[in-house]
Formats: sequence, structure tokens, C-alpha cells
Amino acid sequence: MLPRGPLGRLSRIDPKTAGNARPTCWQLSFCTISGMVRTFDIVVIGGGHAGAAAAWAAGRMGCRVALVTLSAGGIAQMSCNPAIGGVGKGQIVREIDALGGLMGLAADATGIQFRMLNRSKGPAVWGPRCQSDRHAYAAFVQAALAQTPNLEILEGEATDIIADSGHVSGVKIIRSRGGGAMDASGQEELTLGCRAVIVTAGTFLRGLMHCGEKIWPGGRYDEPAAGALSLSLENLGVKLSRLKTGTCPRIASESIDYSRCQRQDGDDVPLPFSYLTERLELEQTPCYLTATNAEVHRIIRENLHRAPMFTGQIQAAGPRYCPSLETKIDRFADKDSHPIFIEPEGRSTNWVYLNGVSTSLPPDVQERIVHGIVGLENARVLRWGYAIEYDFAQPTQLHPTLDAKAVAGLYLAGQINGTTGYEEAAAQGLLAGINAALALRGQEGVILRRDQGYIGVMIDDLVTRGVLEPYRMFTSRAEHRLLLRSDNADRRLTELGRQIGLVDERRWEVFSRKQAVMQEAGGLMSGIRLENKTLRQRLAQPEVTLEALMQSLRDLAAQDGQAPPAAESENQAARWAKVQRLLELYREQPTALEGLAIDYRYAGYVEKELVEAARMAELEAKRIPRELDYAGVLHLRAEARERLSEIRPATLAQALRVSGVTPADITILMIHMQQAREGSA
Ligand SMILES: Cc1cc2nc3c(=O)[nH]c(=O)nc-3n(C[C@H](O)[C@H](O)[C@H](O)COP(=O)(O)OP(=O)(O)OC[C@H]3O[C@@H](n4cnc5c(N)ncnc54)[C@H](O)[C@@H]3O)c2cc1C
Repeated sequence: MLPRGPLGRLSRIDPKTAGNARPTCWQLSFCTISGMVRTFDIVVIGGGHAGAAAAWAAGRMGCRVALVTLSAGGIAQMSCNPAIGGVGKGQIVREIDALGGLMGLAADATGIQFRMLNRSKGPAVWGPRCQSDRHAYAAFVQAALAQTPNLEILEGEATDIIADSGHVSGVKIIRSRGGGAMDASGQEELTLGCRAVIVTAGTFLRGLMHCGEKIWPGGRYDEPAAGALSLSLENLGVKLSRLKTGTCPRIASESIDYSRCQRQDGDDVPLPFSYLTERLELEQTPCYLTATNAEVHRIIRENLHRAPMFTGQIQAAGPRYCPSLETKIDRFADKDSHPIFIEPEGRSTNWVYLNGVSTSLPPDVQERIVHGIVGLENARVLRWGYAIEYDFAQPTQLHPTLDAKAVAGLYLAGQINGTTGYEEAAAQGLLAGINAALALRGQEGVILRRDQGYIGVMIDDLVTRGVLEPYRMFTSRAEHRLLLRSDNADRRLTELGRQIGLVDERRWEVFSRKQAVMQEAGGLMSGIRLENKTLRQRLAQPEVTLEALMQSLRDLAAQDGQAPPAAESENQAARWAKVQRLLELYREQPTALEGLAIDYRYAGYVEKELVEAARMAELEAKRIPRELDYAGVLHLRAEARERLSEIRPATLAQALRVSGVTPADITILMIHMQQAREGSA
């Protein structure tokens, strides 16, 4: 039971019990606002995946944080598919974890099936994914936030962001319960003073739901929309546009004929997301595979005149890479079947998610579609699929630190920035939380480079290019895929997480030990070369390939306790000693040695990418002053001037990525900045 505070349902944590807290080291300078006022350093609006990540980060970095959300029980809810990770997304989860975020730990603790996707391809595109127990996932995150130092959770609707002299200074919220004076409608208004606001309102801003001909306002199924905040953002100068997304029907597990579907099991050895999870011990739940067919396609085609996506009822753009079933049937008319994944929503629920049947067709048509699919002939639908249109802010209105150009101290993260997906949202929330906390400390914000992480790629894409449709991560978006592997996110980001104060002692110890193991194993491996088939032959020969060495280590590790073959010469004995030590290290840290082996295998390519990345890093290090007046840059082409004034890139490298800007423009800009520096020296 959470302790109750003066506002009713609050979670206030005793800082003494909050293991990883850093002390708050600044004072809140807040001017008084009339009405009931409470003061915080940061107010996070929204308790979805972005808001939870932001609040977790900022609280652990020592800020006093209020997380305002419509329903505390809805924190970290999975609005759509009950799964975390996947190709591109799984890498993001590992990066969040490496920086000290929560998502990987939550996914490990509550996953019911784990698979490494793309295993048959190169390690650069392996994507860890798990099927989650969606209720357990949300409960895990809620419990973790309840333990987060300096964090209070307030149930209510944020209606207005207050700004003074171009800087945010507070948030007005409306609550329907709790202490304080009630107005006539039984609601109370409360003002929260703060120096930074992080808006993570997801699909709730002026959300409009569609199911067939039926349209109603809402933020998510059975949840209200939040309109007032849209107006407030617009008043602050943030321009809003519209996007659309949709979800699938849910059906009752006991009504499915699984014998007619293809069973899909998890990996034999499930691999965790978090670098802190040593191993996963769980009973994995199977998923099942079925497919649409010609009859289902006929039903859909005959009813396109009732599909909001086709009648003009839905105006906004949806995710092209995750289209509704009706869009797939229309767009890929030559295909007579599309796969449907039958995914359980948890261990103790009969709700099952029909991945691949995202639709906003009317319920009577949805029912015919479901019953037309093999294995689902008698399926009972528990909730119809629907689509939602919502406000989002074109992310080119943000700096790469995710704060708005229109008003200081305002950060936006998650679906409100035009992205889709829990992982994309959580990553932005984490960075927004980190950057808001750093700004309050008076420190420079974190901008991850494109060669440092998928998170860097995503944020750079968003703030430099903007979005035309909901943005989701793919490995193809990253030009340095071999550097951004799911196995090495800790090597890329944990030191940074430590510097900013988000990586705690335990994570740091685990990371440091792994580094030490890799270093020692690296030395041993480079002295051994293997090549033959049987274990004895493989290890006894002077020439041995890396693959053979790794296979030998895996075999030896699996045959726990087996004595090594006897050495027949002094040289062999020396090699055996090395192999024995490698085996000890492998048993302790298998992922460290597997990662090392990938490094060796792709060393040539990795080197090339590093050279390329280093070249770009030089431009990345050249900061452009935020206030630079592009109208005053002599000889800059009109198009470049216009685009650069709009995007206001943070670095010369980002400027080069702005569409319409050429390398020649960058040279002119460099000369201008150089002259400005010399002039002011
Ligand atoms: C119908 C639907 C289908 C989707 N389909 C997919 C999909 O196929 N694939 C995929 O990857 N992702 C999908 N998503 C998207 C995925 O759910 C989101 O990308 C992700 O949840 C976004 O996280 P977020 O934190 O930005 O927002 P959300 O998870 O939406 O959370 C927003 C939070 O803000 C709170 N809030 C909003 N306004 C206010 C306010 N004024 N005051 C206080 N609290 C407020 C809400 O209560 C909520 O807790 C779908 C979402 C929906 C709704």
C-alpha cells in the first residue's frame, strides 16, 4: 500500500530507503502562482512509456519530480501489442538499459516468451524480443516508480502549462478527487510550480477514436481524451498536426482452436534484455501462427466502403510499415494471404492479441473477418479493433535535447513527437528526463550521436527531418549498424550513464567486471588459433579458427565438469591452459566472449565504420550557437538559409543532414562561425 499524501493518491518515497538516489543539489527558484501551489523541479505529464522513463531518470538524478497522469493504474500500459523489442526496437531497449533505464528490467521480469529475431542474419541486425504479460509489465513499472526517489505520482489531467518570460514555470492540473477546495463540478484545480515540464501525452491529445461509422473522443480504449493541453501547447507556440494509429481485436483464448494453428515457441535459451539479468528462468508460453485467406480478403474488399480509412472519415496519416489489414488487402492486392500471430496477453488472462489484424472496420465486419480465419472459426471477440487520430507536434520544433524551441524548459517525448512504439517512447522519455535534469544542474544536455546508438539515430531523424507518418525504428535507418549491435549497447553507453548519475553501483560493477573479462579474454584469444572438427583435434592443433574456438567453449561449457583432453606436448599444454582460462571466463560471462567473437569476426568492417564515424564526429563536435542568425550568414543560399533557420541544428553534422543543405553551405557556415569567433576573440 502506498503512503497517502495531502493530495490523496500519492507515492512519496523516503529518500533514506531510496538506494540509488543522488542528493538534490540545487534550489528551486519558483515565483508564486495564485491558487493552491506545490513546487517541484520537473513535472512530467503522462504516465505512458515515455513518462515513466522520464520520471524514473529525473527522480534518480536527484530532481523532485511530479508525474501527473490521468490514471495511476494506467501507468506503463501497453496500448497495443503485448510485446517488447524486435528488430531495431530490441536494440533500443538494450540501449535504454545500458544508460540505466527501466524498460529492459521490466521486460525481463514479466516476459512470457523470449526470441532473438533475425538470428539467421548477421549479428548487426539481431533483435531481442519478448512477449510480455501486459498486466505484470505495468505493475512492475508502477512498483519501480513507487520506489523511485524524489518522485510523486499525481492522478489528474494537466490542462495548462504556465510560462513566464519565455520559460515554463508551472502546470495546472484538474483532479476529481482528493483534498482542497472543490469547485461546483466536484473537481479541484491545483498548480504545480516547476522549472521544467516534460509532456508525454501519447495519443490522448484531442484523440478521436474510430470503429466503423462510430466516432467518439477518447485517448485509448475506454479512456478520455485530453483536449485542454493541446490548446495550452498551441498558446505556447507549439504547432500541432494529426496522425493516426490502430489496433487489433482481442479474443478469448479458450475459443481458439489451437490444433489448427502453427505453434511458435521461444528460444531454447532465452536471452535477457537487461545487462543486469544474469539468466532467465521461466516457463515460456507458446504463440501460434495462422493466416488470412481469399475469403477473408473478399469480406474486407466488399466492405471497404465502411472502412474509416477509405471513406475519408480518417484524414490523418497512419504508420506505413504497420498498416491496417484493410490497407494491406488494398495495397497488396496480389497477395492471397497475410500471417496472423496469436499472442497471449499474459499468463493469468484469457485475452489474446491478434497481431496482424489491426482494423477499424465495423464490429459486424470484424466478426466475419475473425471467424473466416483458420483456428478462429468460433473465436469470441472481447474487444473490437479500432483506430485513433490524435495531435502530435512536428519534432523539428525541438532541439536535439528534446526541448522545444518555442519556450524554454518544455520537453516533449514519445508518441506526441510523431513516433509509434513503446521502445521509441521510452527512449525519448529517458533522454528528456536526463536532459531536463542536466539543464537544471546547469550542465550541457546529452545528444547521442548516430554512431553511438539507435536512440541517437531516432532523435536526430526526428528533430532534423520531422515525420510524415508515425515513425518507428528499423535497423535500415542506421548507417552504422555494425557498431550499433544489441550485444554491445553497454560498451557504447554505460560509461555515459555513469557520468550523468543514472548508472548505479551495481550496474557499474557488473559492467566493469564484464569489461575486465573481455580484456583478459581478448588477450587469450588473440594467442590461440584453432581449426579442426572434434574437440580434441580443434584444440590440439596450432591453427584454430575463431568459430571453432567459440564452438569448443560452448561445447565445453555445456559438458560441465568434463576433464579436458590430456596434452601431448609442452605447446599443447600451454594452449590448454589458455583454453581452460577462456572456459572459466566463458562460464562466468558467456555474452562477453560471444560479443568479443563478433568484434573479431567483423573487425575489418567495424574498423571502416569507425573511421567513417570519426570523420562525422569532428563535425558533430562543432556546435552551432542556438541563437545564430542565419540571415546574417553571407553567401548562404536562400533555401539553406530558410531550412537552417527552421531546424536550427545543434552541430555542423546535423546541419549537413538537413534536407536542402549542401556540403558547400556547410563550408560557408564554418567560415562564418570561424570569423565570428575571431571577431569576438
Ligand atoms: C490504438 C493504438 C494502437 C497502437 N498501435 C501500435 C502498434 O501497432 N505498434 C506500436 O509499436 N505501437 C502502437 N501504439 C503505440 C504505443 O502504444 C505508443 O507508441 C506508446 O504507448 C507511446 O507511449 P507514450 O508514453 O508516448 O504515450 P502513451 O503510452 O499513450 O501514454 C500517454 C499517457 O499520458 C497520459 N495523459 C495524456 N494526456 C494527459 C494529460 N493532459 N494529463 C495527464 N495525463 C495525460 C495518459 O493517461 C497516458 O498515461 C498504439 C497505440 C494506440 C493507442
